[in-house]
Amino acid sequence: MTSNILARYTTISTAEQLLRRGMRPKTVELFTGLSRYVLTRLHHEIFGASAPCGRSKTSRIITRNNAMRSEASLFIKFYLYIGGDPVWTEFDIDAFVRTYDMYRDAVKKFRNREHLDINHAWALARDLRANTLRRRKCHQCGIHYVNLVDEPHAKCPICATINLPARVPESLRATAP
Ligand SMILES: [Zn+2]
Repeated sequence: MTSNILARYTTISTAEQLLRRGMRPKTVELFTGLSRYVLTRLHHEIFGASAPCGRSKTSRIITRNNAMRSEASLFIKFYLYIGGDPVWTEFDIDAFVRTYDMYRDAVKKFRNREHLDINHAWALARDLRANTLRRRKCHQCGIHYVNLVDEPHAKCPICATINLPARVPESLRATAP
């Protein structure tokens, strides 16, 4: 009986951690097995309001622009560092939460920079395990970046950014000192 109480406490504690970081209740339900009713009540107790509606996030965020591909690559780098090789084949909730906190701490000083929320991070971790998100090494700069299996020609976001000045219009380049 005692272990059941402890297990229940641990499950609710995990749900609280995820909700506080902004994870959608529907995704928390997948992890914890807690009912929608319990999660709705928990969300209300934490925030004093119902959870916002919205569609689930996907890894396709990385195709939006080079900045988001860089963010995703950084998150996955942290996730592999903290979770190790097992995260390729299984989802590690503790490693995931620690990684997300580490990522959030790393990016919060750049307030104007677009960054991943926990729902995007979860989609990336899920798709890494499902092998629909991959890591590729750039042969130019040497970093690892992520791409989806259905975008095999995706370019390194760092090198793509560095190449940008070459596309500055001639008229603007002429004003440079
Ligand atoms: Zn590169």
